[in-house]
Amino acid sequence: MEIEKASEMGFCFGVRRAIDMVERAAREKGPLQTLGALVHNPQVVDRLATCGVNVVTNLDDIQGHIIAIASHGVGPGIMEQVQGRSLEVIDATCPFVRKAQVAARKMSEAGLWVLVYGDAAHPEVRGVLEHAGENASASLEVPDLDSLPSRLGILCQTTQNPKYFTEFLAGIISQGLSRFSELRICNTICDATSRHQAAALELAGRVDLMFVVGGKDSANTKRLARICTDSGVTTFHIEDATEIEPASLQGHSRIGITAVASTPDEVIDTVVAVLNEHVSRN
Ligand code: SF4
Repeated sequence: MEIEKASEMGFCFGVRRAIDMVERAAREKGPLQTLGALVHNPQVVDRLATCGVNVVTNLDDIQGHIIAIASHGVGPGIMEQVQGRSLEVIDATCPFVRKAQVAARKMSEAGLWVLVYGDAAHPEVRGVLEHAGENASASLEVPDLDSLPSRLGILCQTTQNPKYFTEFLAGIISQGLSRFSELRICNTICDATSRHQAAALELAGRVDLMFVVGGKDSANTKRLARICTDSGVTTFHIEDATEIEPASLQGHSRIGITAVASTPDEVIDTVVAVLNEHVSRN
């Protein structure tokens, strides 16, 4: 049995930057809190807690005087509330997310309806929509085009798949190009996501079993697992090595491993070690 890791996987620039920022702040200024999980990975959240970085889900629960904004950012309303409470802000919003926020605001200021291809419930998308103001919506399906104004700006949740975004755009253009007097598209998918997905897909084409390692609450991990499954290979989404079922390895000769941007190296390394142990025993 052969085991191979995807050529691009694990912590991205934005996650590494966010973790470095809060760890440095906790070292220099003492305990602090993050508004929501800094990244969607329980091992990272647990490790940060040991450094004095804890999660609050509500501004009213903040104790102390420092709050960190996660890499997926927030809308201007939350930022105003934070500033109104005279809290010191560690803003770890990823620059790629910031780019989407700025694009949404500019499209809205130009009078366009802003349509975000993404999960409306995801914190990043909620923040981007808030930057666009009233005239904005998010969807993973082509919406009812008759309900939209004739000037439309489209952008994308940073971690969506380029192929699915392209299909979404094609759906809008084929169903209703003539309805729009202006159609502006801004590609706000981040480089890290595109590279991770391309590397996962390339590996999935060469193996007969894939493990996608990442938090169970991580939409990005679920999406990466779906991309591998859609390519036709048997795929398991696991959070860590304890979830590997030896029976699931039977009959497979080439195993691929990939992980999303929020999965720490040590979790990936343990998955590889456990699989190697299994290989050496069989
Ligand atoms: S996945 Fe992309 S947008 Fe998200 S934190 Fe990483 S670099 Fe930034």
